[in-house]
Amino acid sequence: MSRPAYVVSFRGFPACPCLAEWFPVFEAVAILRGIVRESFDIAQLIGGAVESAGTHSEGGAFDVWQHDPETQRLGREMGAATFNRVTGSFADNKHSHGVLVGCPHNGPARYQIGALELGFNGLGTAGRGGLDTGPGPRKLRTWREGIAWGLEQIERHDMANVWDERLPEYDENSKTDSRRASVLLAGAHDRAGDAKRHAKEAHQLARANASAIAELSALVRELIEKEK
Ligand SMILES: [Zn+2]
Ligand SMILES: [Zn+2]
Repeated sequence: MSRPAYVVSFRGFPACPCLAEWFPVFEAVAILRGIVRESFDIAQLIGGAVESAGTHSEGGAFDVWQHDPETQRLGREMGAATFNRVTGSFADNKHSHGVLVGCPHNGPARYQIGALELGFNGLGTAGRGGLDTGPGPRKLRTWREGIAWGLEQIERHDMANVWDERLPEYDENSKTDSRRASVLLAGAHDRAGDAKRHAKEAHQLARANASAIAELSALVRELIEKEK
């Protein structure tokens, strides 16, 4: 079977270019959140697995072996209608299945995006065979908006890390600064006390001088009176 011209190879799996662009950001945010350590385990991108009923035949769909609720939530936040496939016929084949919103190659799987939006699980006729039970949003952004959102998460995380690393240093500095400030303040307080004491003494001295002068001049006046 010949593949359409847009098909690229992503980690050895045939994929549509949207998925090849989207997946690494999906994975980077998953690593940052601790959902995976190094990478997702890809089961299928473009492919013809019988269980997939043709939904993977053209692109815009992915299967990863990780099937925890957080993978599902993140897939949805990133702009892919993502479902945990863990029960019934999937019990021996547990995985997460996702469909990129806004991918022009996802034709055979697109109905599942609409099904999720209405609260269904994407299985069966028109994807409305059962109710969606998973965490995460149901009305989704597009995969391109998902990339922008994901990059923003990464940037925020990096910023938070930068601050985490720098804060103790700032704390130490500010502790030192405040210690230094309180020493300076105590010194200033002492000097202010001294100055006040000096001023009081000077004032008393000046008063004593003034009364001495007054006494002297009274004495001088008395003497002059006597001379007359
Ligand atoms: Zn695509
Ligand atoms: Zn699938």
